[in-house]
Amino acid sequence: MKRIAFFDTKPYDKLYFDRFNEDYDISYFEGKLNKHSAPITRGYDAVVAFVNDDINKETIDIMVENNVKVLAMRCSGFSNVDLKAAKDKLTVVTVPAYSPYTVAEHAMALLLSLNRKIHKAYNRTRDFNFSLNGMTGFLLRGKTVGVIGTGKIGQAFIEVCGGFGVNIIAYDPYPVENSGINYVSLEYLLKNSDIISLHCPLTEQSYHILDREAFGLVKDGVYIVNTSRGALVDTEALLEALNTEKVGGAALDVYEEESDFFFEDFSGIVINDDMLSLLISHPHVLMTAHQAFLTDDALITIAKTTYDNLSDVLSGEKCKNEVVYHEPKKEAKSSK
Ligand code: NAD
Repeated sequence: MKRIAFFDTKPYDKLYFDRFNEDYDISYFEGKLNKHSAPITRGYDAVVAFVNDDINKETIDIMVENNVKVLAMRCSGFSNVDLKAAKDKLTVVTVPAYSPYTVAEHAMALLLSLNRKIHKAYNRTRDFNFSLNGMTGFLLRGKTVGVIGTGKIGQAFIEVCGGFGVNIIAYDPYPVENSGINYVSLEYLLKNSDIISLHCPLTEQSYHILDREAFGLVKDGVYIVNTSRGALVDTEALLEALNTEKVGGAALDVYEEESDFFFEDFSGIVINDDMLSLLISHPHVLMTAHQAFLTDDALITIAKTTYDNLSDVLSGEKCKNEVVYHEPKKEAKSSK
């Protein structure tokens, strides 16, 4: 039986992966995969990892030395994997489309909750505080939503927006042909959107796509929704823009330094990250801890696709979900 080392395991991972496992001997480790834990992979055929594991060159070199054949990411993003270091040595596979609507619906849930203060109302009413002071939202109908990245999730988000009567504009260096999507330049999107929702991957080009310069261009009071990757937004610049009310609200499922905190319970512990503390305590910010992917439907697809990927690679077949290193193209940042 092939052996799998499974990192950063949470109870729901084990539940879904055990449910569909027929072929593998799996060791579940709670710790993250990084250069310190990678030596554990000796004797395993495959490694299953997640978004906040630190899979840099050192981690990869250790796995290669341990004769691991495949790194199976149980997520769609792979910005935490040094694909260049893995090239021709370790096959890397992902779950590219486990449920785009799962993430898109969470983006809409965050936007609606933040705008209509649902999170505040929940706390108030539990205290029998029925005051409506400070609870005023705005009408979505007629507003302009700027979607950055129109891949699977961006398109699903556009569809989810369909019922709200909003005007959609989008920016993507690789527009989807014949999609009917109204593509504009990044600069136009920044200047004209009432809400900006990020759905592009984290790359060298998209790193801090919303930076100080971008926040200088946006409409006063714009709402930012980020369910993609934390480092798409310069957090310091976002906090400044929130404090001057240039940005009216930020609905965030991701944070650029999340890997030290997200998916773990830090209640009762002083966390050593002032930026995260400021975001969480900001009256115009609503955060969830990278949970946009978390539906029953998505977890089933993640487990099944990961097993299909492992089976392809370990049996010597070509896997359609393999990702390989390509030299980055320079386009997005310069077109702001
Ligand atoms: P996808 O590959 O289908 O689409 C990404 C789109 O972004 C593509 O159309 C691409 O052309 C575009 N793009 C690339 N660089 C860009 C840039 N600089 N500016 C604007 N657009 C750019 O990916 P997807 O399945 O739609 O996922 C999008 C992202 O969502 C993932 O990369 C991942 O970071 C994130 N994600 C988050 C969660 C979560 O739980 N929060 C879950 C899944 C995915």
